[in-house]
Amino acid sequence: MDHSATTPTHPDVLDAMLPYFTRQFGNPSSLYSIGRQARRAVEGAREQVANALGAAPGEIFFCAGGTEADNWALKGAAHAHRGRGTHIITSSIEHHAVLHTCEYLEAQGFRVTYLPVDRYGLVDPDVVEEAICADTILISVMMANNEVGTIEPIGTIGEIANRHEILFHTDAVQAIGHVPIDVEKMHIDLLSLSAHKFYGPKGIGALFVRDGVEIERFIHGGGQEKGRRAGTENTPGIIGLGAAIERVCRDIEGNAARLRLLRDRLIDGVLREVPHSTLNGHPEQRLPGNVNISFQGINGEALLLLLDASGIYGSTGSACSSASGEPSHVLTAMGVAPLLAGASLRLSLGELTGEEDVEYVLATLPGIVERLRAMAPQSV
Ligand code: PLP
Repeated sequence: MDHSATTPTHPDVLDAMLPYFTRQFGNPSSLYSIGRQARRAVEGAREQVANALGAAPGEIFFCAGGTEADNWALKGAAHAHRGRGTHIITSSIEHHAVLHTCEYLEAQGFRVTYLPVDRYGLVDPDVVEEAICADTILISVMMANNEVGTIEPIGTIGEIANRHEILFHTDAVQAIGHVPIDVEKMHIDLLSLSAHKFYGPKGIGALFVRDGVEIERFIHGGGQEKGRRAGTENTPGIIGLGAAIERVCRDIEGNAARLRLLRDRLIDGVLREVPHSTLNGHPEQRLPGNVNISFQGINGEALLLLLDASGIYGSTGSACSSASGEPSHVLTAMGVAPLLAGASLRLSLGELTGEEDVEYVLATLPGIVERLRAMAPQSV
């Protein structure tokens, strides 16, 4: 129930990777045969990633995951275009990989506008357009939110950015395999993705950089990734990323339809069975596997522990912020009171989730919430 935090590497993906750890271990830059084989495999994976996005292979740059792709996109674009301006627009519900990078850029002299969202977590494209100034060089809005699952109007925002000749980056880490993506139609210049969110290995991702878009190199060293991201390629990871993205994009609509049924059964069941519970995020425009519900009068962390004891793995907020103890910046930006934000649960369904899992949660969760409320009855 926590697929948004991470997913297991699918056995077919692992099978595709394994030879590149052992027999085919060559360095893709080596000129002898096993090096050339590794190079061919890396380029094949680049094509698989490009196909999934409607991009050209030359526009895909491998890196170490979503966080690195976001850092690279923002710092790389900001520094390369500093001569044109220093203003960046983003939303207040981005992942910390974007938000903390923006804070870093502010310390470097850039000016950042953090756009508000409505109560469903939606960014209003008109508000994006109103925020544009003469010195705006970059807009970064995520494709789908990792906590509440809200899917943003990326095509419309991309069209606005394009019309104003401003670079447009989107963090699509949570969207891959769930939302059909076409970087052309959506006017995307930079896009981040990460394999471990779609049944690929951890520690590998990619940044799409539209042909002709200038961004500063991220890691200095050898000539790998056209000199933009140096370091010997993570060949097994790259092969895994390619295999995973091809696999997960084969039937986006079929998978989404299955998950939506499970998701809606879970949401309806919890809201019906648990009094004083509210759904966070957009009722329809949300990731097919995302459930995020606040339960008045409980502590989210205590809920997680009791769920864990019953074999249910969920999260409060994002996996990355669970440890901080701060109420979710996403929920508070949506206008949820801090106490209620701290009483929220994210369950994210995926390939490991079946009907019986949803039934088990529905049979277990209401009793746990009731127990927690009984411990602090004054709070409801
Ligand atoms: N962006 C979003 C929206 C995410 O959900 C995550 C991971 O949770 C990341 C970025 C970071 O990706 P990675 O774990 O590959 O660094």
